[in-house]
Amino acid sequence: MGKYNVLVTGGARGIGAGIVRSLAAAGHNVGFCGRAEVGSCDDFLAELKANYSGNFAYFCCDVSNSSDREKLLGDFEATFGSIDALINNAGVAPNVRADLLDMGEDSFDRVLGINLKGPFFLTQAVAKRMLKNSSSNFKCIINIGSVSADYASINRGEYCLSKSAVAMATKLFSVRLADDGICVYEIRPGVIKSDMTGAVSAKYDKMIAEGLTLQKRWGMPDDIGKAVAMLLTGALAYSTGQVINVDGGLTIERF
Ligand code: NDP
Repeated sequence: MGKYNVLVTGGARGIGAGIVRSLAAAGHNVGFCGRAEVGSCDDFLAELKANYSGNFAYFCCDVSNSSDREKLLGDFEATFGSIDALINNAGVAPNVRADLLDMGEDSFDRVLGINLKGPFFLTQAVAKRMLKNSSSNFKCIINIGSVSADYASINRGEYCLSKSAVAMATKLFSVRLADDGICVYEIRPGVIKSDMTGAVSAKYDKMIAEGLTLQKRWGMPDDIGKAVAMLLTGALAYSTGQVINVDGGLTIERF
């Protein structure tokens, strides 16, 4: 199985950290970023280096900022060489769950800037680099979407909009890059235990107990990590532009 140089956005905590650990366990080299300063995840880096054989590095980058994105890619290549896989995981919920009629433009811009503009232009830049530089046969881009691409929540409409557009970005890039051998996927999590869901944890505990998901438990970051690692084995090589639901059966329609 190939060992790749993988960039994970938002990899220091939550789902991203689950992805980083699963990729590390599979032997890949992993660079990951977040807004927190370099040095803030030295403990996590030490854990990775103690347990796995790959190379690991953390970079400070706000994915919504174009010069940060350029610097990130330069730093990644200086550390690892070419990039074989990009995992667009970084994302935010609105700071305030405001009713659709009250949602402000500042929140719209913030959420769309991080959840859509960031991954879109990072994918664009990475794809150009992959076309020029990558020596590996397997090249892949994975977007972490959300069931909110399809499910309407009127108190976080900007989040739903961002994730439905990420679904289209996955399709667009899969069409553009298929001839160049670059597979593009969306992994679509359901309800996953992380800081993002911390504030609404009790609400989801109740909903899960009452049957929100067919599998009556929270999703965990490593459920998403395992799905990402599976895609990097090439197990779904004859598949691109597709959504892989990792949601405990939440989206199965029932009567
Ligand atoms: P968390 O809030 O726990 O973590 C978010 C991660 O994104 C952090 O690592 C954070 O790092 C990073 N991040 C946020 N903003 C930026 C930015 N501007 N630039 C770079 N990194 C950033 O969220 P989750 O782990 O739960 O979410 C990860 C992804 O999964 C998101 O895209 C989310 O929409 C999606 N998702 C989550 C679900 C859930 O139930 N938890 C369900 C469906 C989808 P830092 O703070 O250091 O910047």
